[in-house]
Amino acid sequence: MTRSSRLHSAVAGDQAARLAHKLARADALAAERGLALTTLRRQVYTLIAESERPVGAYDLLAALEPQRGRVPPTTVYRAIEFLVEHGFVHRIESKNAFFACCQMGEPHQSQFLMCDACGETVEIPGDRLAAQLSRSAPAQGFEVHHQVVELSGLCAACKHGHA
Ligand SMILES: [Zn+2]
Ligand SMILES: [Zn+2]
Repeated sequence: MTRSSRLHSAVAGDQAARLAHKLARADALAAERGLALTTLRRQVYTLIAESERPVGAYDLLAALEPQRGRVPPTTVYRAIEFLVEHGFVHRIESKNAFFACCQMGEPHQSQFLMCDACGETVEIPGDRLAAQLSRSAPAQGFEVHHQVVELSGLCAACKHGHA
């Protein structure tokens, strides 16, 4: 085995382990809350969770086709809505796409770092920024319904040309 293929399988192994962990967490959360994680919802969640980048609805439809044949788009949209509503995934507004939550089951605000070059996206959960914003003078009396903080730029690997 060459050095690079060994490295590749180690990375693939890490990804598989991370995915298995997210799926176990999703199953546990569904069981805890009495939520029906149906086969389709679980398949959609798996496709989103195994991606390091936000996944759009059309990409999900295309990826589901080999597994399930043609699924009506509205059925898939409803599955996505379910996953967003119950905190399994976040909607990434600037890309109209979806990204698996790293802290399922705990209510939180999130900030996202998104690489313009490779698309890699990282969630930074935390309520401090939201609290700071809501305490600021211009926000006095303003009732926030929805907060989106999505930062675009270059990830460390792309910045140093290793991607
Ligand atoms: Zn989250
Ligand atoms: Zn990058």
